[in-house]
Amino acid sequence: MECQKEKNLENCTCSYPGCSRKGVCCECIKHHREAGELPACFFGKEAEKSYDRSIGRFVAENS
Ligand code: SF4
Repeated sequence: MECQKEKNLENCTCSYPGCSRKGVCCECIKHHREAGELPACFFGKEAEKSYDRSIGRFVAENS
């Protein structure tokens, strides 16, 4: 299966500038998982802009 980067970018909600992982969801998830975090697309628009990808922020947003 070929990388679906271009298709994935149509749905990517990450506003962090210059990240080479944008659209490469497997690398994005791996990166944040290793940091104990979640990718941008798990957060609402305002929370995403904070660039705080912590699980604590996710729980706070969704409780
Ligand atoms: S969520 Fe993180 S790794 Fe994924 S594209 Fe945005 S800044 Fe890059």
